[in-house]
Amino acid sequence: MYVLPELPYDHDALSPFVSADTLRTHHGKHHKTYVEKTNDLAAKAGLAGRPLEEVVREASRRGDKKLFNNAAQAWNHAFFWECMRPPGGAAPSGDLLRAIDAAFDDLDALKQAFVDEGVNHFASGWVWIVTGGDGLKVISTHDADDTLVRDGVFPLLVCDLWEHAYYLDYKNDRKAFLERWFDNVANWDFAAAQLASADGAGEGFRYPAAEGVAPGGAAETPRPSL
Ligand code: FE
Repeated sequence: MYVLPELPYDHDALSPFVSADTLRTHHGKHHKTYVEKTNDLAAKAGLAGRPLEEVVREASRRGDKKLFNNAAQAWNHAFFWECMRPPGGAAPSGDLLRAIDAAFDDLDALKQAFVDEGVNHFASGWVWIVTGGDGLKVISTHDADDTLVRDGVFPLLVCDLWEHAYYLDYKNDRKAFLERWFDNVANWDFAAAQLASADGAGEGFRYPAAEGVAPGGAAETPRPSL
């Protein structure tokens, strides 16, 4: 069974930029539902217990839309929680800042590109900062679509563009949400760690391993007590 990962901070830790109310609903209702549906659909597809990253890619390969949408949303949200940290954290520095400067000239220009991409993205989806063969880029993906199924793209940071991410706090003002998110709660330490992974220093973010299921996909048989 895939588990709903704990938030890496308290519900009120990102306030007022992301309220406790939004986080409770977003994590405890929306994300939880995606995880539950993934457990059901992955079992039916014979993929239970496989790393979630593999499930997303396999569902995409098979054209299994329902499983892809739920598994990708389970993964995207787990990644998204790591992309935020309480206000007052570190700004980009070191290799990350050098990569930003090389691709965008400076952090302000990256912010402009990120906010523009998110504001102009029609309907639901995600806005990402990614690294690839030619340096950092800002891209967006629709609905549940994610970077796991895109070749040559490695995610550093993502922000949720679905209305459930900001409507309680910002109503329909996605631009204000993205600007305040970028300036106050974007987790640049996480982005820096992802960039180092892309450069070969690790495997990067992985969804927590499924519990209670053997790697082959069969449920673990409880051991008889002695
Ligand atoms: Fe969401």
